Amino acid sequence: RAKGEGRNTYRFFDAQMNEAIAERRELEGDLREAFERGDLELHYQPLVDVGSGTIVAVEALMRWQHPERGWISPAVFIPIAETCGLIVPMGRWLLQTACAQAAMWPGISLSVNLSPAQFRDRDLVPFVAATLAEAKFPAERLEIEITEGLLLDASLKPLETLLALKALGVKIAMDDFGTGYSSLGYLQSFPFDKIKIDRSFVSAIETNPSAAAIVRSVVGLGQSLGMTTTAEGVETAGQMAFLQGERCDQVQGYLLAKPQDPLRLTALLGTWRDGAFTTADKDMSLQ
Ligand code: C2E
Ligand code: MG
Ligand code: MG
Ligand code: MG
Repeated sequence: RAKGEGRNTYRFFDAQMNEAIAERRELEGDLREAFERGDLELHYQPLVDVGSGTIVAVEALMRWQHPERGWISPAVFIPIAETCGLIVPMGRWLLQTACAQAAMWPGISLSVNLSPAQFRDRDLVPFVAATLAEAKFPAERLEIEITEGLLLDASLKPLETLLALKALGVKIAMDDFGTGYSSLGYLQSFPFDKIKIDRSFVSAIETNPSAAAIVRSVVGLGQSLGMTTTAEGVETAGQMAFLQGERCDQVQGYLLAKPQDPLRLTALLGTWRDGAFTTADKDMSLQ
């Protein structure tokens, strides 16, 4: 009897797994089609300088509205793009589009996220150089965000590539700091200009004393190492006040502004009042 049950359990998992695989394959096909048709979009979220209240940079974030399923999170479709290789052409499109767009926003820097899979592309560095030249976008205003996962994979030669990007004048940010396989050694061995403190710590500042202590320490660490610190996912005035008190350099989050399409972002840049942290026009945000 037990044997029979076991078999049924296997069948059950087989069926579930087959369904998951089929679903993923379907999404992959839809994503490829959406990309080829030009249906992917870019939204931009401001990074605000804490001292002056000025928008100093925007982070480009990919958006996909599926014809039947509605908006699909990049947390879902980026991993699919990574495993099927689509991330390389998608990432190239993002870089070209975002550089051309950001070149029209005077003085604003641009942050783009790069997946480990994009570091497997031997032409990454020359492609970045050519894209900057074509968009007439200064290398100093481009910042590449990477996560700790990249640094773990020696086969990707992360140090070599990051140094080559730095040689172009591009800035490097460690994204989602404090999650994953954080090692302080990375801050010493890799040429980071910025540490982005993960939203999981920032969102707990007011409720969890350990989270507040971690944020305080990372800001101090950034200061000692001469790196810019950016707090991600700032949603409340209380979090903002804490970060101001700790002299965190930059903030990013729904309290300031949500990611939004380029037209809305252009309008926001026109109406933004430096220092008016809590009056960011949330109605201008799409999602
Ligand atoms: P990330 O790079 O850490 O981007 C920040 C994420 O936090 C974005 O999610 C943003 O919308 C969200 N966020 C910002 N402020 C707040 C806030 O106050 N509250 C909350 N709850 N969330 C906030 P999004 O756009 O869903 O992107 C998720 C992740 O997907 C990104 O995390 C990034 O790792 C990845 N991603 C997005 N676009 C791209 C891309 O073009 N290429 C690559 N390689 N990865 C991308
Ligand atoms: Mg990022
Ligand atoms: Mg992040
Ligand atoms: Mg994050």
